[in-house]
Amino acid sequence: MNYKLSSQLFKAAQGVIPGGVNSPVRAFKAVGGTPIFMQRAQGAYLYDVDGSQYIDYISSWGPMILGHAHPSVVEAIQKAAEMGTSYGTPTALETEIATLALSMIPNMDKIRFVNSGTEACMSAVRLARGVTRREKIIKFSGCYHGHSDTFLIQAGSGAVTFGSPSSPGVTKGTAHDTLLATFNDLDEVTKLFEEYQDEIAALIIEPVAGNMGCILPKKGFLEGLRELCDRYNTILIFDEVMTGFRLAAGGAQERLSIKADIVTYGKVIGGGLPVGAFAASDAIMQHLAPEGPVYQAGTLSGNPLAMAAGLATLKQLKKDPTIYTRLDQKTQQLHQGYQSILDKKGLPFKINRLGSMISLHFTASDVVDFQSASLGNNKTFNSYFHSMLDQGIYLPPSAFESYFLNDALTYNDIDKTLDAFSNFIKKT
Ligand SMILES: *Cc1c(COP(=O)(O)O)cnc(C)c1O
Repeated sequence: MNYKLSSQLFKAAQGVIPGGVNSPVRAFKAVGGTPIFMQRAQGAYLYDVDGSQYIDYISSWGPMILGHAHPSVVEAIQKAAEMGTSYGTPTALETEIATLALSMIPNMDKIRFVNSGTEACMSAVRLARGVTRREKIIKFSGCYHGHSDTFLIQAGSGAVTFGSPSSPGVTKGTAHDTLLATFNDLDEVTKLFEEYQDEIAALIIEPVAGNMGCILPKKGFLEGLRELCDRYNTILIFDEVMTGFRLAAGGAQERLSIKADIVTYGKVIGGGLPVGAFAASDAIMQHLAPEGPVYQAGTLSGNPLAMAAGLATLKQLKKDPTIYTRLDQKTQQLHQGYQSILDKKGLPFKINRLGSMISLHFTASDVVDFQSASLGNNKTFNSYFHSMLDQGIYLPPSAFESYFLNDALTYNDIDKTLDAFSNFIKKT
């Protein structure tokens, strides 16, 4: 592949944008090399500025579940743009997408739209704190809930159970209110509840983690969290920014038959435009402004262009639920192909998958939490990533990310991907 123009553009970008990117993972820091600048995308493919085509396995980190530039989404955006792009007033479109979204997701009465997953999670925690009048939250190491202060916390040192800031700029005070736990370790969470009793406003979790590779909850883990939250009157927040409308029309709640108190959305719900949302019961939502005292707002929240893209995407998913079966089958095909290539080679590996989320880890031990995900061989991952990229396969540029398949992907694309993987493995 020729990355000439991408390299030039990256250089120019670095002069005016910190690190040349507007979101860190795009900079390829984990895998090395120059980020690829894209020019356009269509269906399952990305096209870069140097004229190369890539089979896309990140789908813009999740949103493009229908594939890129889906005709119904493009048409909806064009129509909306002609009517003006923002009014700062309510529109019927917002009620339409809210009604449709609530008809697809289990167990929720009301939904508030925001502009990103970060905002959704930040607001969900404030709401939980406002409802319970408590201050602490529990989050899990390796789960990502956006970049607001509350979540940029790593495990504390020594005997302390509260965390410490994982980024300069986050205060110790904030870190003091975030308790860190280990994904899939119910005993540890139980101990936190026993220690902090009635101080814990909310427990937030990605029900299927997608930001440390794809990590599935062990049997009984989420059910155990549900019980603990009920026992201690703590609000259970499912961060479904990744899994919402992806693992099923009703997200992880539907797929895993478990109910949360507040659920956050993003990514698919915006169909590729900047949208986030959080949903809850009437009893919880009545605390939110302007009905209640918990403040939350947004100049561009419910923006007509974004709502049109989200609505067109959700309509398509509702109209054709077989998309989830197709996505599952394609992802399974990829899984089996990878597995048989790796089995023949005898290289240590683990593949985690649920629905259209999948990740490959170059490690012999099961990948069940952040610590075990960190054991993967990064050197092997990086040469894998670059070998695939050179062969026209665009994977997430970090061993800690899940792949997200889209409906436009064909079995022929998967065969090409497996051929490319075979080539890489032969040389390893
Ligand atoms: C992407 C993501 C977020 C943050 O969403 P943004 O739109 O990037 O702010 C939050 N939670 C999860 C699980 C995500 O995958």
